Amino acid sequence: MTWIPDPAFAKDLPFGPQTLPYGVVDTGDAQGPRVAVRVGDHALPLAPFGDELGDLVDLVSGSSLDPLLAASRVEWSALRARLMDVVNGSGKPPGASLLPLTDVRTPLPFTVGDYVDFYSSRYHAENVGRIMRPDSEPLLPNWTHLPVGYHGRAGTVVVSGTDVVRPHGQRRGSPLPQFGPSGRLDVEAEVGFVCGGPVARRVPTSNAPEHIFGVVLVNDWSARDIQGWEYQPLGPFLGKSFATSVSAWVTPLEALTVARTPVPDPGHPRVDYLVEDSPWGLDLRLAVEWNGTVVSRPNFADMSYSCAQQLAHMTVNGATVRPGDLFASGTVSGPSVEHRGCFLELSWGGREKIKLSDGSTRTFLEDGDTVVITATAPGEDGSVVGIAEVTGTVLPADFADVGG
Ligand code: CA
Repeated sequence: MTWIPDPAFAKDLPFGPQTLPYGVVDTGDAQGPRVAVRVGDHALPLAPFGDELGDLVDLVSGSSLDPLLAASRVEWSALRARLMDVVNGSGKPPGASLLPLTDVRTPLPFTVGDYVDFYSSRYHAENVGRIMRPDSEPLLPNWTHLPVGYHGRAGTVVVSGTDVVRPHGQRRGSPLPQFGPSGRLDVEAEVGFVCGGPVARRVPTSNAPEHIFGVVLVNDWSARDIQGWEYQPLGPFLGKSFATSVSAWVTPLEALTVARTPVPDPGHPRVDYLVEDSPWGLDLRLAVEWNGTVVSRPNFADMSYSCAQQLAHMTVNGATVRPGDLFASGTVSGPSVEHRGCFLELSWGGREKIKLSDGSTRTFLEDGDTVVITATAPGEDGSVVGIAEVTGTVLPADFADVGG
């Protein structure tokens, strides 16, 4: 019987003892930001009961997850085992205190190193291909042989709850391009992998768990009109770089062991470094909520490349992976309309209106709109493992920011 008196701290709820995601909380007092785990609707800061954690307390005594990310999988596993003993015990450890999540601020919990975004849903890639390039094959020839990706902008990765200002940019026009606030602001529901462990290059697929600490949800905010004008031939740039939101809590990869699923067979041989003995994806069931209406339920199990293949690809040329690097899966979409992970697909390029429960309709985001992405996965013994929500509200374009 646990000492934690929170009804949300239950095995059949996302943030019970089976999950224990790590984050950083700040109550605004002199202690400043501190590392905690989430237990139900509370945060449990770790340093105050450090005696229970032995030497491992050094990994979680600071103001961010950076030292923990720089540790090893063996240490991550040992710390998680200790924490499970603590939260499942009947007695409150001396010094421990529970903070209601409503009373704390949750800043970005780690220093984002390099940020990579993939494009690994065949359904998404085919839908976007059909919408953006209706006269050509939806998939380009490379797509089936490598996880297509690009390097994004780490400096504008923001924590869940951060408002997103509608971006300005150029869009297609005739005879000249137009400039102004984006009129086609969109979301992309994605899963992000937070890297850790030793600095490494050429990470084989079998070594992914040594370098992936945990999982967050990602909203890759996308200005489709800016993107559509700028993206050829070098890929996404200003249509994406204004903001990328991530969960405030990182669910350890170890909590998702039961959620592993096979990755769909590509039906052709893979280049050696992408071969995986038993490629595993994750049965993460996402929900995309637009102003309170669930408009989509993508499943991460429908992705065509695994996180191990993505990491192998990212490092195969000799580029390093370092603690704090973040890579996102690409928009998670599936075979049916209700699995489409972005509004470009849901509205089929803006042609079909999406109805919300208040009776209003949408194609792309309006000022004041809020999008929340959540996800759960199966855990041990019928439990539910949660990935913390990622949420953001659109603010009007700020003309004061634009000179001239
Ligand atoms: Ca994306």
